[in-house]
Amino acid sequence: MTANRRTIGTRAVHGGRAPSSGPLIPPVVQSATFVMASSAEMRRYLAGDEELYLYTRYANPTVRVLEEHLAELEEGEAALAFSSGMAAATTGILSMLEPGDEVLASASLYGGTARFVREVLPRFGFGGRVIPVHDLPNVASLAGERTRLVVLESPTNPMVDIVDLAAVATAAHGKGMAVFVDNTFATPVVQQPLKLGADLVMHSLSKALGGHSDIIGGALVGSKERIDKAHALLKVLGGCIDPHTAFLVERGLKTVHLRVQRQCENAMALATRLEKHPKIRRVVYPGLASHPRHDVARRQMSAFGGVVAFVLAGGLPAAEKFYDGLRLISRAASLGGVESLISLPVHTSHYGFSDAQLAEAGVDPGAARISLGVEDAADIIADVERALESVPGA
Ligand code: PLP
Repeated sequence: MTANRRTIGTRAVHGGRAPSSGPLIPPVVQSATFVMASSAEMRRYLAGDEELYLYTRYANPTVRVLEEHLAELEEGEAALAFSSGMAAATTGILSMLEPGDEVLASASLYGGTARFVREVLPRFGFGGRVIPVHDLPNVASLAGERTRLVVLESPTNPMVDIVDLAAVATAAHGKGMAVFVDNTFATPVVQQPLKLGADLVMHSLSKALGGHSDIIGGALVGSKERIDKAHALLKVLGGCIDPHTAFLVERGLKTVHLRVQRQCENAMALATRLEKHPKIRRVVYPGLASHPRHDVARRQMSAFGGVVAFVLAGGLPAAEKFYDGLRLISRAASLGGVESLISLPVHTSHYGFSDAQLAEAGVDPGAARISLGVEDAADIIADVERALESVPGA
């Protein structure tokens, strides 16, 4: 781990480097390839001189600035940027496996990652098992001979459950398993899983880190050894980030602490208001004392994230009516941007699930998920309350 004397806001603005001369903002090196001055320079590159570059799929100066910044934010030794969160997840998970190894994944995980573990890994000779989120503390007893990796997220998608990351890491390490945490929902501003024992942290940069819903990107952060292994695989699997996209993410990172703080405040304000609303059966937000794992959230997070889930008393018909009635909050499936967004899990992450499968995943058919943006809380709450007026009573 790097010794960080600066706190998160300063690290968000300055990243890992403060230029002593030249441009304040690192330039976009929009070049696929790099010219070598001589065979001697080529030899220096081959010997590992990190000042030299060969080809952008391998490394690029703009991308490297972003990677150093991400490592600084998560307090990891190194980071690696990818073309999407899914490229980061799939490359990262594969980099931690040997032929025949098995992965245990939480059922409350981003759908694409869960599908990769359940459907794709077994096609290539790896084991892939999805377990209920509440079984995660028991990973030691659930592990088989070849189980090597536990994959999870906290808060979870879409119902913002909380997993005790330190407890899972201790249990997994006791059985020789590594732990891979998708920290997209929390962001390093409010939670740093490496400090809680995770071995590799993954992000969809498309969410709060990019922050403006205008790019797709991903990242891994961890020890230099783990990042080097993932980098070797990235070079052949090919999911590198484009330099211009890296520049946009780097620009977004400078305000991530301000945006996430505002999103958390807005989420708390909305969750508190909805808890008292007669047309809402249940509100799930880790910052509420009523959340079943509020105490764990308080222990491992410095704020409670920008996503609120709630269940309408009138079920799916009421949820759809509410969804249609919103005027400020956009009906769009993502999270972490400056605009507030709403999605209904049965139309997005849990589309096509039977009632039994929904129950197993802890998703009520009448659930809605709002990702809070950075608008003024009063306007968000007014939009929600107006849309609720059009919903028939329970
Ligand atoms: N992890 C989480 C928690 C997500 O919400 C998403 C995307 O919605 C991903 C991973 C996948 O990231 P991307 O869409 O950047 O591939």
